[in-house]
Amino acid sequence: MELVPLYSGSSGNATLIRAGGTNILIDAGRNCKCLTQALFDVGTDPCDIDAVFITHSHVDHVSALDVFIRKYPSKLYATEGTFRGMSRRFTKPHELTPDIIIVPGEEFQIAPGVSVTAVSTPHDASGSVCYRIRQGGRTCMVMTDVGYVTEDIKRLATGVDAILIESNYDRRMLVYGGYPEDLKIRIAGDGGHLSNDDCAEMMKYLIDNGTRKFILGHLSENNNTPDKAEQTVCEYLSAHKLTRGVDYTVFIANRYSPTVALEV
Ligand SMILES: [Zn+2]
Ligand SMILES: [Zn+2]
Repeated sequence: MELVPLYSGSSGNATLIRAGGTNILIDAGRNCKCLTQALFDVGTDPCDIDAVFITHSHVDHVSALDVFIRKYPSKLYATEGTFRGMSRRFTKPHELTPDIIIVPGEEFQIAPGVSVTAVSTPHDASGSVCYRIRQGGRTCMVMTDVGYVTEDIKRLATGVDAILIESNYDRRMLVYGGYPEDLKIRIAGDGGHLSNDDCAEMMKYLIDNGTRKFILGHLSENNNTPDKAEQTVCEYLSAHKLTRGVDYTVFIANRYSPTVALEV
């Protein structure tokens, strides 16, 4: 299995997961042109996408979906709340059939040997979830827009082999930055995003439970930098005697272009 961030950040999100012969897209932000170009850049024909999973209806996760799914029909999976939230973004209605409605907490098979489990997140969009993919005895997870790490999220993430994990903002940059106070409160609140420090703590927990491969994602354009995110998590982990390259590997997902094809 391979975990391939196509682009990541408040400006737009999409992640490709190659699970055996099944190509899964998680989220479809930016626009269809950017999405198809990113797929071609990593050597995947958009026609070969088998399933699109949407985490939630915020625009940075769904803005390419309407055009993409018409041009390259594949199965679309989302929770009922997400369908409701994003239907107003579509120019034409999509058919809602039970096999594409996600029920958080239930693992289900999307292809022989490939299964997916969703977990609800406290992020401020109705029906918001993140997904864990299992194939060939390996698991990976895309864990962004989580608000805070609930016990359910923690349980599902425990023991995954690789994870794209949210490292949205640097606390100092958010507090001293130019955002309006109510937006600062929203971002740092339970329905917002994980800070670099929150991410570091979760990484420590995951490493203690066997996870080795990390990609930091969904970095804020205004309240974070790749260097800050990387430095914060590595310093925290090093203070807990965890060494990069020995105990774990970490990449930072690019904002506008594919990062690595991380072997899970
Ligand atoms: Zn969101
Ligand atoms: Zn987002």
